[in-house]
Amino acid sequence: MNYSKFVKEKAPEMIKLLGHLIAYKSVMDTPQIGMPFGKEAAAALDAVLSAAKKLGFDTRNIDGYCGVADYLPEGCSDIKLGILCHLDVVPAGEGWTVPPYFLTEKDNKLYGRGATDDKGPAVSALYALYAVKTLCPSLKHGVRLIFGTNEENGSADIAHYLTKEKMPPMVFTPDAEYPVINCEKGMIRLSLEGKLSDKVKSISGGDVINAVPARARAIVGAEYLDVLTKAAAGIYEVSVSCEDGMTAVEFNGKAAHASIPDGGINAITGLIDFLARYIKDDTVCALSRLFKFGHNDGSGVGIKMCDDQSGALTAVLSLAHTEGEKLVCGVDIRFPLCGSLDMIHKGIEGALSGTGITLCEFNGTKPHYTDPSGELVSALLKAYKDVTGEVGECIAIGGGTYVHEIGGGVAFGVEHDGTDYHIHGADEFVPIDEFIQNTVIFAKAIEEICG
Ligand SMILES: [Zn+2]
Repeated sequence: MNYSKFVKEKAPEMIKLLGHLIAYKSVMDTPQIGMPFGKEAAAALDAVLSAAKKLGFDTRNIDGYCGVADYLPEGCSDIKLGILCHLDVVPAGEGWTVPPYFLTEKDNKLYGRGATDDKGPAVSALYALYAVKTLCPSLKHGVRLIFGTNEENGSADIAHYLTKEKMPPMVFTPDAEYPVINCEKGMIRLSLEGKLSDKVKSISGGDVINAVPARARAIVGAEYLDVLTKAAAGIYEVSVSCEDGMTAVEFNGKAAHASIPDGGINAITGLIDFLARYIKDDTVCALSRLFKFGHNDGSGVGIKMCDDQSGALTAVLSLAHTEGEKLVCGVDIRFPLCGSLDMIHKGIEGALSGTGITLCEFNGTKPHYTDPSGELVSALLKAYKDVTGEVGECIAIGGGTYVHEIGGGVAFGVEHDGTDYHIHGADEFVPIDEFIQNTVIFAKAIEEICG
C-alpha cells in the first residue's frame, strides 16, 4: 500500500486538525461535571473524537476521562491493537518565541505546546488508521485508538478506562521515543524524617521529587562561620555567608532527571556531605553515609542492584525541607526487574535502623516488561525499518511511560535520538516530515499487526 502518498495528500488536513488541538490549553484544571480534568482537556477530547467520527470511526467518550475511536473491518469482532495517545499538556512556561497555544509553521516545523507530546502523535495515529481503512480494507482484526487526558498528572484517565473497558491485548503509545521501549524500571518515592540538633537550624533544597536538585541551602550556628568559610574556599560549589547572626551555606549543583542522575550534581547530598565533615549532627552525619555524595546507586542504603535487561538501580535524595526541628527528605528510586518493592522496603528499613531516621512514606510501582521477541515488538520494529531504513532495537529506560501499568504495552516513538523537540519546554515542535513519517510508520504497523 502506498501510505506515504496518501498521508502526504492528507497533510494539510492533518496540520489543520493539529492546529485546532494545540489551540486548547488542555493543562490540568478544576474539575467540572463530566470534565474531570477541566474544560479545555474535555474540549480537546471532543474535538479529536468528532474528527475521528468524520473519518468514519466508531467513537465514544468515556465519562470525560478519555475517548476511543474503533475501527472494526467487515465481519470482524475482535480488537487486537490499541494505540494510546494523550491530549493533555504541561503548562507553557517561559521563554517561547512563538505563541504556545497556536500552531506556527516555520522552517518546515510545526511549533506549539503538544506538537510532539502528544497531540501531534494523536493526529498521526488517527490518520494512520484512516489510511489503513482506506487503502487496506481487508484487515483481519480491529484497532482502537485511545485518547487520554491525564497523562501528565498521574494517568487517572487509564485507571478509569480500566474500570469500564478492556485494554486490547497489544498496545503501543507514541509518547516517548523510537525505536521501542519494552522495559521500564520500577519506581519508588519515599520520605524520611530525622531530628536536627540545635547546631543545624534548617536544610532545604530541590523543587520536584523526580529531579536531581540543583540548589540546596542550610542555616547553621554562628560559631561555624569561620571554619566553614575556610573550608569552602577551595570548593567551587559551596558558598558561606553570615545571615541574621547565623551562618548560611549554599551548594550549587546541576539538575538532571532522576532516572539518569549521573549527569547531575546533587546539591542536597553535596551540602550534607560538606556539613557532616564539620558539624556533629546525628541526622546530617547519618544522611551523609546513607546517601553518599556522588553515588546514585543506593549502596549507602544497601539496595545496590543491577540486571542485564534494565540496568542499575538509581536512588536520588531529591527533596529536603525543615519543619521545626524535623528534617524531611524525599527520595526517588528506580529499580531493575531483578528487584521488588518488598526487597527494597526491607533493605531501607535495615539501613535506617539505629540512625534515628525513620521511613514515613513508601509508594511504588513494579517494573514494566514486554517480551522483545513477541509479535507486537517484531511488527513495530519491522514497520520502523520499512519506513526509516534503520534497524531498531528495544531499549530499557528508568522512567515510566504511559503504558507502565498496561500489560503487553510498549512505547513506540515519536522522538528520534539526537533531536531535542523541546517537550515540556519553550518552543516545542515537530518537523513536518517527521509528522508525516510517523503517520506512515503507524499505518504500516497497524497493517503488520492486524492485516
Ligand atoms: Zn506525553
